[in-house]
Amino acid sequence: MAGFTQLFVPGPTNVPETVRQAMNMPMEDMRAPTYPTFTRGLFEDINKIFRNESGRTFIFPSSGTGAWESAITNTLNPGDRVLMARFGQFSHLWVDMAERLGLDVDVVDVEWGTGVPVEIFADRLAKDKEHRIKAVFVTQNETATGVTSDVAGVRAALDAAKHPALLYVDGVSSVGSIDFRQTEWGVDLAVSGSQKGFMLPPGLGFLSVSQKALDVAKDTTRNNRSNRCYFSFEDMIKANDTGFFPYTPAVQLLRGLRASIDLLLEEGLDNVFQRHARLAEGVRRAVAAWDLKLCAKEPKWYSDTVSAVVVPEGIDSANIVRTAFENYQTSLGGGLSKVAGKVFRIGHLGWVNEVMMCGALSAAEMTLLDCGVKVKPGSGVGAALEYYRESRQPAIAKA
Ligand code: PLP
Repeated sequence: MAGFTQLFVPGPTNVPETVRQAMNMPMEDMRAPTYPTFTRGLFEDINKIFRNESGRTFIFPSSGTGAWESAITNTLNPGDRVLMARFGQFSHLWVDMAERLGLDVDVVDVEWGTGVPVEIFADRLAKDKEHRIKAVFVTQNETATGVTSDVAGVRAALDAAKHPALLYVDGVSSVGSIDFRQTEWGVDLAVSGSQKGFMLPPGLGFLSVSQKALDVAKDTTRNNRSNRCYFSFEDMIKANDTGFFPYTPAVQLLRGLRASIDLLLEEGLDNVFQRHARLAEGVRRAVAAWDLKLCAKEPKWYSDTVSAVVVPEGIDSANIVRTAFENYQTSLGGGLSKVAGKVFRIGHLGWVNEVMMCGALSAAEMTLLDCGVKVKPGSGVGAALEYYRESRQPAIAKA
């Protein structure tokens, strides 16, 4: 096979060359006296990506799932009542973890293809006069269905009910790609991972914590019953405050993280979000031109980081994913759990641009034809490139 294998799964995403090179280094001593000079800047700057203006961000040598566990075990006790919604494989897995860690989970099941039901949450919170609900969980971007939920809306519901519950957000496939404002939206614990918008290999779990949640974790009268060790805030704070880690950190990934944060800040977060919105819209235009539908039921749910495309009756989406890889060296995402066989996913997050997305759409279009889906050759790619040209800012025109 010649040329690059094209990676369009919604994580792990493409790693920019500067990030890859930053990790290509001789091994270093993570206890060297100079190490804190490096880590202090990193701790400060990762907060900027979460727009966390008063708390701190923990960097764990784990995937995002580890950061979920850290968020729960440091701030909640077994038996605590929490409010969650389930509408895809990742929101399901978060519910599953909460239940396995002994929380009393009030699960609101809604249709896959929709997201967090803000009105139902508002109603539950308003009725909870005794404040039995200790935490509200939001999966900001459900990667399995390509659905984005309204985090600010959930904060507004908490405020309207004058409810003191902590707000937890899964931002694994959203932070660093679509708008997220931890302090402004009053998010207490925000989880992410290295392998999506941060454009790094998998291996780092991020947990950005508000001052309120840090205080709750310290309150031993309330929060001393969940077992925690590897993911303990206390151990991490003690070590991080001196510029080190409580155990061996993933040193190369941290150098890569420095480079990826630099890229995000140089481009400017708002520009990064704008780029993702444009790329996503081009993909959506292609899907419409193929006369196919997204799993996301309405525009208000559309995700700017991943599109899950519903395949016609009688077509197996797993076959589409396999064929794209075998025929065109292109990795697309498959359907997970309830939507297995029914959707394929195109990741449009991280280090991507218009031409790369046209490549992904070309592969998807050829594959759809190979698999018997009657799309007009060129229709989807044509719609996308027309949109990319007309929406280019500033337009560069040469006669
Ligand atoms: N949450 C969401 C929304 C995800 O997309 C993923 C992974 O794809 C996870 C959580 C789990 O993260 P990880 O695989 O990094 O543990």
